[in-house]
Amino acid sequence: MKFPKKVKRYCPSCKKHTEMRIVHSKSGRKRGSLKGGQRRHKRRSGIKGYGGFPQPKIEKGSKYGAKQTKKTDFRYECSVCKRMVTSAKGGKRLKKVEISQ
Ligand SMILES: [Zn+2]
Repeated sequence: MKFPKKVKRYCPSCKKHTEMRIVHSKSGRKRGSLKGGQRRHKRRSGIKGYGGFPQPKIEKGSKYGAKQTKKTDFRYECSVCKRMVTSAKGGKRLKKVEISQ
């Protein structure tokens, strides 16, 4: 889905609608290989016990499984005060996100 680069949104610090730049935040850098929770997850999702903890494995024709889409995580930067504003609604589930130039 395509999104415009600039939108008019309400800025809580300017207390009015201003033009804002959309920034699609990328997931952060991973810390080293396998720390705490990851190690636990690997142990639990291993051969032992229930196979797909915490999310069931994808099987063809099954309605259960890991999600195939990710929620968008848009931040908006106010062009007047340069403050970052996050969307209150949270993201949409989309397979592909494009911000047009
Ligand atoms: Zn502002």
